[in-house]
Amino acid sequence: MRTLWINGESKQGGGPLIGVIDPATEQVIGEVSQADAADVDLAVQAAQAAFPAWRDTPASARAGLLHGVAQRMRQSLESIATELTLETGRTLRKNRGYVEWSAQCFDYYAEIGRHHLGRVIPSPEKSQLSLVLKAPLGVVACIVPWNYPLLLLSWKIAPALAAGNVVVIKPASYTPWTTLGLAQVFEELPPGVVNIVAGSGREAGERLIRHPDVAMIAFTGSTEVGQHLMRAAADDVKRLNLELGGKDPLLVCADADLEAAARACVWGAFLNAGQVCTSIERVYIEAPVFDQFRERVSTLARELVIGPGMDPTTEVTPMIRASERQNVLDQIKSARELGADILTGGKIPQHLSTGFYLEPTVITGLEPDSPLMVEETFGPVCPLVKVTDFDQALQLANASMYGLGATLFTNDPAKVRKYMNEIEAGNVWINDPLIDNMAGPFGGFKRSGLGRELGLEGFEAFTETKHVHWEIEGGVKSWWYPWE
Ligand code: NAP
Ligand code: MG
Repeated sequence: MRTLWINGESKQGGGPLIGVIDPATEQVIGEVSQADAADVDLAVQAAQAAFPAWRDTPASARAGLLHGVAQRMRQSLESIATELTLETGRTLRKNRGYVEWSAQCFDYYAEIGRHHLGRVIPSPEKSQLSLVLKAPLGVVACIVPWNYPLLLLSWKIAPALAAGNVVVIKPASYTPWTTLGLAQVFEELPPGVVNIVAGSGREAGERLIRHPDVAMIAFTGSTEVGQHLMRAAADDVKRLNLELGGKDPLLVCADADLEAAARACVWGAFLNAGQVCTSIERVYIEAPVFDQFRERVSTLARELVIGPGMDPTTEVTPMIRASERQNVLDQIKSARELGADILTGGKIPQHLSTGFYLEPTVITGLEPDSPLMVEETFGPVCPLVKVTDFDQALQLANASMYGLGATLFTNDPAKVRKYMNEIEAGNVWINDPLIDNMAGPFGGFKRSGLGRELGLEGFEAFTETKHVHWEIEGGVKSWWYPWE
């Protein structure tokens, strides 16, 4: 059993125990103690108490401790990656990479924290000094979804801690296992600087977002919950960083390298069984190459190896739960009823009746306003749409309430220029989708989010700005009372 971690100590939560399920076997891998509201209060209190000393710790000392976190993550790389595979279903091969990348995130922000000083600005008079200071906010609630439990956690806590904040982490109810196990990775930090409370969104989550001593909510998850958080944050005007849903488009121009585009499409649509916030969920293809592209993508999708994440030959892993898979099957069913053509997939694979598997699915024949083209699917479904030209594709790509990622395949610089200027998305990929860069800000336009993670923006997000005006020489100013 794994317990909560509050003020540097493990603690049995007041909420019910829950079993953590392996999506590949449907077996319980372990039990987790859940936080109730009182546990959340304790965690926030511990963080609040730890804040002044952590804020006042020299940035170089904080950097040393954060490099230490990275080092301990790497020392436990194999066991953390294995645990991630057991609770998310994702391939071990990918999870090894994600642990290393999470460690790099701590190394990166340790150094950003050491170098980020604010600035000196010109003052009205020579006797004065004007400074722009960056201050930490205090207690940051970090609420994470189940699809990338460690990576999305690192994108939040590494910059938050480097900037001098303290954190309370709430993992998703499907995937608390690895996160609670991270206590050993953080154990050299002062008690209370990092606290981990597993628990349901409805109880632990609600208490956390409404707690008056929580200064900021850093959240990755659905748009619906993000909207709820914004409303809840309004009472205290809490700071928010929101990474929400997406419906990412891929545009394939007739001049593109079609083989590369087809392979990128299949990778971007089916990676992690389509459960990536930046999964390709709509593909617009210029008419002259549509048939060829459709055939190639269907063939590639059919050839994908479906199986458990622990098997090194597996390419497509199970979905997280039967209920999430059912949502996707329902979307496919209504698409079929609307006359869509299922080119491949669309069903539970016959040879994998245990585990939450779903065949990679390629669909055509949907109208732009049909639900599967508009709503986030978050599953292995790739709808293909024939368009007359690039301009129509761009217009359709932008006709969405989401704006997270967007990919273009072309060799025409004029199209690249127009696309990068006009596409309404925070992450724009040309000829290479779904690539994140630690130094490149990540986030969404429109209902895909608010604020950015990663890069300098992802550090700034965890700071408050102070303007300091200092009259060094002192004396009485002519504009003070009494007026002459
Ligand atoms: P979710 O249902 O929104 O949940 C996300 C987190 O919020 C979970 O920890 C959840 O806890 C918690 N939560 C739920 N209700 C809450 C409440 N009232 N107060 C406080 N916390 C609450 O999202 P999900 O189903 O885990 O993940 C899938 C979604 O995440 C998709 O929409 C996907 O696009 C999005 N996503 C976005 C990004 C990005 O960077 N933009 C990255 C990955 C995923 P419980 O688990 O207990 O419900
Ligand atoms: Mg959910």
